[in-house]
Amino acid sequence: MNHYTQYIMNSLQNRINDKLIKEAEILLQQSKQISIIPHSGPDGDAIGSSLALYQYLKKKGIKSQIVSPSDYPIFLNWLPLNSEVLLYPSNKKKAKDYLKSSDLVFIVDHNSFKRSGDLEKILTDLPAKKIMIDHHPEPENIVDVMFSDTSMCSTCEFMYEFIEALGGEDLIDEHMAECLYTGIVTDTGGLSYNSSNPRTYQIVGELLRRGIDKSKIHSNVYDNFSTDRMKLLGHCLDQGLEVLSEYNTAIITLTKEDLVKFNYKDGDTEGFVNYPLSIQGMQVSVIFIEKDDIVKISFRSKGNVPINAVAAEHFSGGGHMNAAGGRTTEKLGDAINQFKSVLPAFIESLEK
Ligand code: 5GP
Ligand code: MN
Repeated sequence: MNHYTQYIMNSLQNRINDKLIKEAEILLQQSKQISIIPHSGPDGDAIGSSLALYQYLKKKGIKSQIVSPSDYPIFLNWLPLNSEVLLYPSNKKKAKDYLKSSDLVFIVDHNSFKRSGDLEKILTDLPAKKIMIDHHPEPENIVDVMFSDTSMCSTCEFMYEFIEALGGEDLIDEHMAECLYTGIVTDTGGLSYNSSNPRTYQIVGELLRRGIDKSKIHSNVYDNFSTDRMKLLGHCLDQGLEVLSEYNTAIITLTKEDLVKFNYKDGDTEGFVNYPLSIQGMQVSVIFIEKDDIVKISFRSKGNVPINAVAAEHFSGGGHMNAAGGRTTEKLGDAINQFKSVLPAFIESLEK
């Protein structure tokens, strides 16, 4: 059996540790009130996996509430039951009260309270038991039961495995399947990257069997631009783009003024950083977005280029090898100069 076949065999079975699932089962049995926390600035995977878990618990007769640290983009607000998500910024007291009287908290699609945004302090101090379900590298030791596996393409894939391991596969209905499928496609760029494990397609097959309308989901997620958002993308790729051919790297810059000009709404820049990777030969793409108090940076790369190292070492962030994020309190121009100053050594280190 060659290495790859072995990998496939391993990845088709035993993806969920029996001992951990028993511990999770006990916590679920003991709990009367559960909170589910996606990461701050939640994406399709964070909200999709949270909503699927929420619906599963509901079917099991267990009371739960998703508390989102921040609002999320309109291209996700069609998801089944999304109106039942409690948004922390506009419901602070209710959210805090709910969290404080929860006996179990699920930390979903993130592995550090730093990624829980405004809920960081509350969660750090909360005595409730905690379960993590996440697929990012370097999880922090912050929970009682940790499901952490970077071989999962998405937390939604992980959530499917988790629910199946709990014996709840038959409870997965069309609505839950829609949520899970959304996270799988949004975290893999429409099943283009990080999605070569055959098991992913078995799960997608199971979700399709629940009757989901794949075309409708793709259309809801991807064909949902406002005119302003489309023009903002045009601006990014025209005025905002700088290509550093020598380093196979592209940079997009967005100023506060640009955001105002194009009536920026949360989530409008989602996915923009991927476009320059379509330029022949590009290996790295980075977008710098000037916000009120910080510059938010998204990094993407292709192949064996660990751009998360740059995010972690220089921009207080991290993430996956090919998709990472970070931030700085430096001025926009200084942040870009800092990136340009570390880029040559980073690219050189790849060639070794
Ligand atoms: P995005 O650029 O879309 O915000 O994030 C890309 C990926 O990097 C996501 O998987 C996200 O979870 C991760 N990420 C974004 N910001 C941070 C950060 O500050 N710290 C860590 N550890 N991961 C991040
Ligand atoms: Mn994810």
